[in-house]
Amino acid sequence: MDKDIKKKLLEIVGRERFHDSNEARLAYSYDATPNYQSMPDAVIMPQDKKQIQEILKLCHSKGVPIVPRGSGTNLCAGTCPTQGGLVLCFHYMNKILEIDEENLTATVQPGVITLDLIKAVEERGLFYPPDPSSMKISTIGGNISECSGGLRGLKYGVTKDYVLGLEVVLPNGSLIRTGGKLAKDVAGYDLTKLFVGSEGTLGIFTEATLKLIPIPETKKTLLALFDDIEAAAQCVSTIIANKIIPATLEFLDQATCEVVEQFAKVGLPTDVRAVLLIEQDGAPEVVERDIHQISEICIEANAVSVNIAQSKEEAEALSQARRSALSALARLKPTTILEDATVPRSKISDMVRAIQKIAQKYDLKICTFGHAGDGNLHPTCLTDARDTEEMKRVEQAFEEIFEKAIELGGTITGEHGVGMMKAPYLSWKLGEEGIAAMRAIKHAFDPKGIMNPEKVFAKDSRKRVVVQS
Ligand SMILES: Cc1cc2nc3c(=O)[nH]c(=O)nc-3n(C[C@H](O)[C@H](O)[C@H](O)COP(=O)(O)OP(=O)(O)OC[C@H]3O[C@@H](n4cnc5c(N)ncnc54)[C@H](O)[C@@H]3O)c2cc1C
Repeated sequence: MDKDIKKKLLEIVGRERFHDSNEARLAYSYDATPNYQSMPDAVIMPQDKKQIQEILKLCHSKGVPIVPRGSGTNLCAGTCPTQGGLVLCFHYMNKILEIDEENLTATVQPGVITLDLIKAVEERGLFYPPDPSSMKISTIGGNISECSGGLRGLKYGVTKDYVLGLEVVLPNGSLIRTGGKLAKDVAGYDLTKLFVGSEGTLGIFTEATLKLIPIPETKKTLLALFDDIEAAAQCVSTIIANKIIPATLEFLDQATCEVVEQFAKVGLPTDVRAVLLIEQDGAPEVVERDIHQISEICIEANAVSVNIAQSKEEAEALSQARRSALSALARLKPTTILEDATVPRSKISDMVRAIQKIAQKYDLKICTFGHAGDGNLHPTCLTDARDTEEMKRVEQAFEEIFEKAIELGGTITGEHGVGMMKAPYLSWKLGEEGIAAMRAIKHAFDPKGIMNPEKVFAKDSRKRVVVQS
């Protein structure tokens, strides 16, 4: 890094918050995405918005790339510093500033860990529903930037549904506030929504005001087992068609169940083709009624068995097991590639069938699980990045999976974001005109292109392949 720039950065944050040793640079050269790595010039850990403004003013004037980074758990190579520059972390900006019980809001700094916020508001009888499986380590800043979702997305929505206002430092160092503690606000363009899901490419969030809701009184969990994937997928559509919206409606195929059970040992069956994990929450009488009706629908859909968890502990163990699916699968092979192709939920069975065919065609081990109620599936390939021949097949298989998702009216990513990984496929979803519109927005905020460069926008788009059925 240029000596003058380094000197100025040290003046802004002090020696202990600036790291440019090889060890530090290496530690921040990758994130949770396999196969992407690139060294930053330095890592900086500011402690307040003023320091962030100073850092951005300097980087803007000198053209230094900035990569904001929460816990680095993203799965789209969203924090890989491909052009070097500064990785900017929020370890020292991790305070819950306020829980406002009158307005039902929480105001937080970006480095707050998601589960810490969930627990803090639950102590006050309040509920922050977005629950990515990574919530024990992911940060609110990362969740907002990726618009993360979780098991509770079907009934409660995802991060964007809970962000009421943001404080943002723009790439030129100026500070703006969007939204606020307001249920209604139509003053101009909805910049809050624009920043949610912007993947660190438009500015840096320094504060967020989040919506809270009352915590549901009670919850019940049900496990339905199927010998037939089609029946399980059809069951998902039937539950919704019966106008029941469960809090959670998760799908696990046999391969995933086997691995998760080996890992979590919670009594998940390993001899059936598909499992649905269903939760309902709310007032006790509503939960009773819905769980009863859901059981009947599962039985009519030819479930081989339907079991309702008998205790809070048993229910919690099942949800935890599902949340551990990725970690459990990751133990099997050196490289785990998890995708999140998403389709309208009525097309779940078509998508699951297509994934199985594609896995067979390319002779790959692909396990599938996911938020079936949202149509958001996670085909997960267990592979080895050192095997270049197999990696070629993996890439081709995922291209076909994305192609199929689009063909079924879906999208290339439901919750993990575009980052670098999906950027070459973005035009499949948006068309070149859609990308041009997004580029214009990016240019308006960040004309020098210093904010998280090479994310979302690819140098080259992939040509669409022809799916052979
Ligand atoms: C085991 C595992 C399970 C997962 N489960 C889920 C899941 O269920 N649902 C889901 O949606 N995702 C899931 N993910 C993906 C990931 O956890 C989420 O995308 C999460 O929101 C990332 O948070 P983070 O703090 O790690 O952010 P990072 O990975 O550090 O960053 C993510 C993005 O946010 C930007 N960013 C971070 N902080 C700021 C800020 N203050 N201002 C501006 N931009 C910022 C970064 O530049 C980057 O583009 C999972 C990942 C793993 C490894």
